[in-house]
Amino acid sequence: MKTVIHWFRRDLRVSDNIALCEAAKRAETVIPVFIFEDAFRTGPDVGAARLAFLLQSVESLRKNLAELGHTLVIRRGKSEEILPALAKEVGAQAVFANKRYEPYTQRRDERITQSLLKIGVGYELFKDAVVWEETEVLNLSGKPYTVFTPYSKAWKAKAIPAPRAKLRSQKPEARSQNLSSDNLPATPDEVGYPLTQKIPAGGERAALELLRKFMAGPVYSYTTNRNFPALDGGSNLSPHLRAGTIGIRTIIADLNKARAKAVGADALKSCETFLNELIWREFYAQVLHNFPHVTKGAFRPEYDKLKWSDNEAHFTAWCEGKTGYPIVDAAMRCLNATGTMHNRLRMIVAMFLTKDLLINWQQGERYFMKQLVDGDMASNNGGWQWSAGTGTDAAPYFRIFNPVSQAEKFDVGGKFVRSWIPELKDFPDDLIQQPWENPLLLSKSKYPQRIVLHEEQRGKCRAMFKAVKG
Ligand SMILES: Cc1cc2nc3c(=O)[nH]c(=O)nc-3n(C[C@H](O)[C@H](O)[C@H](O)COP(=O)(O)OP(=O)(O)OC[C@H]3O[C@@H](n4cnc5c(N)ncnc54)[C@H](O)[C@@H]3O)c2cc1C
Repeated sequence: MKTVIHWFRRDLRVSDNIALCEAAKRAETVIPVFIFEDAFRTGPDVGAARLAFLLQSVESLRKNLAELGHTLVIRRGKSEEILPALAKEVGAQAVFANKRYEPYTQRRDERITQSLLKIGVGYELFKDAVVWEETEVLNLSGKPYTVFTPYSKAWKAKAIPAPRAKLRSQKPEARSQNLSSDNLPATPDEVGYPLTQKIPAGGERAALELLRKFMAGPVYSYTTNRNFPALDGGSNLSPHLRAGTIGIRTIIADLNKARAKAVGADALKSCETFLNELIWREFYAQVLHNFPHVTKGAFRPEYDKLKWSDNEAHFTAWCEGKTGYPIVDAAMRCLNATGTMHNRLRMIVAMFLTKDLLINWQQGERYFMKQLVDGDMASNNGGWQWSAGTGTDAAPYFRIFNPVSQAEKFDVGGKFVRSWIPELKDFPDDLIQQPWENPLLLSKSKYPQRIVLHEEQRGKCRAMFKAVKG
């Protein structure tokens, strides 16, 4: 082909990018485009943190492309209108993009296919964000897996593709014509989303640097350290996987190199645990594809009948980190301030919302999507339904975390709590996770009383589930 447009979406990188690689292979000229969609400003789940991360990542992509002699065309508006217009403008034979899996993006892709078809332009989508997608990993009866462990075994049994090469420099004669570009908003504030959070750095270089650092050491103690919020035991790659500033094949190739150098059983086990977490991401992506009803309700429809609490004051206290349970409050304050939250804490606060406050998991899911820099429909929905007990795994609804014992196990001495709740600075280590045990000291501090008693709520939660379980 003479000219192909590569439409960057959640693949904001020049290396290990399948559609981009294919475009460069099959066309003489590649026109890279990024569309700042109206939906970025109006969707119900838009959040300032994710928008800021995206803007930074597009800017970094623009620079990386420029170093290779490519000019990123930026347009603002509706992709369904912009792509056919741009295809006509540059005389493109096809538009290439990497696949997305959320139901609303798939509906949009169908509309785009039709509008491009009308002008004789092809629209090709490539699998890129995951190793195995949609129905590529099925059980022996040809059905999608709904339990993680057998899914992960089947996932691992398939040969993993190697990363794709970095985009090569554009030949001078093929460098893009003088195409007009719109300006991106400099900050999310410009489109009505004031950024109050201090978020991690976006862009492909930042992602590759995180990967390098993680594989140079922390990966070997991941199994143990990943559970302690005060230790930086994870890779912190989730915002990058979400924005596509890093390729999944690159991560796995580096993991395999690290595994080859691992010394001792613990280090090897840690590499395997890390791979399993990457597979959880794919597990939830295929759940979303095969069971799209999860975006609207419980994976197990009987749980749509649960009689959740509509206590708004409790929900507000949870959002603001004022429930009186230090580990929950510290986690929520961290989320509100940084757009990030440690995995263990996500489980604790999600359990607390659903099983202590008895509030519908969908309220928490929406709040997370507004705040999280890595907010991803599939993983977020999966994480919430797992915690609420309405999800895919044989998740017994009676799995209820005790916020105090979780905190005493995973935040020993309250290091994490202390970093987010200054009101508790005078509490000794043995009381930091349950300050109500010293009523005098608590009344002197500005920290709130517990809004519910875990011991009481536990019974109510079981009764609520039993009522629909029969
Ligand atoms: C209620 C709840 C909501 C969540 N919402 C999201 C979300 O919106 N976006 C998101 O990326 N993750 C979500 N997770 C999963 C997990 O908490 C984050 O992926 C993880 O904290 C990111 O930190 P990390 O990059 O250091 O992960 P690491 O521990 O380094 O793991 C490596 C990668 O594996 C993937 N991963 C790890 N754990 C999980 C998991 N349980 N489910 C799916 N993928 C996983 C992520 O892509 C992560 O970057 C949620 C979990 C829960 C319990």
